[in-house]
Amino acid sequence: MSAETELYREVVVEHKRAPRNFGQLPHPTHQARGRNPSCGDEINVQLQVDDGHIHDIRFDGVGCAICIASASLMTEAIKGDTVSSALDLQRHFRSAMTGREDVDEDVLGKLISLQAVRNYPSRIKCALLGWHALAHALNDSGSDTTI
Ligand code: ZN
Repeated sequence: MSAETELYREVVVEHKRAPRNFGQLPHPTHQARGRNPSCGDEINVQLQVDDGHIHDIRFDGVGCAICIASASLMTEAIKGDTVSSALDLQRHFRSAMTGREDVDEDVLGKLISLQAVRNYPSRIKCALLGWHALAHALNDSGSDTTI
């Protein structure tokens, strides 16, 4: 097994076992539900945004290991960020996962471990679902979206 695949498995298993920021916020300012019918994943993302900053974020729902791990990593990556840098990161992550952009470790940080998903094209939507819901929550709160 390559080092890349090993890191990927470790991160996905760990975040599926103990997802970070899993649950619901009492008074979210933004939220959206995302569905990925090809796998059966369904994720709800809630945010507490104040003065252009993401003060808190939670997600819940059901999904495969890749979906849950990616959403969990996302919450860690953007909590405390500005809305615009979170949306920037969402675009970079999507481009990196779909192969439109080279993966840049400086930009993606820990998310780099998910790049191995590129080897499984049918699972890319699983990795993108939480991020897709995040963008909808920030741009069109209250909406449902399908990836
Ligand atoms: Zn999935």
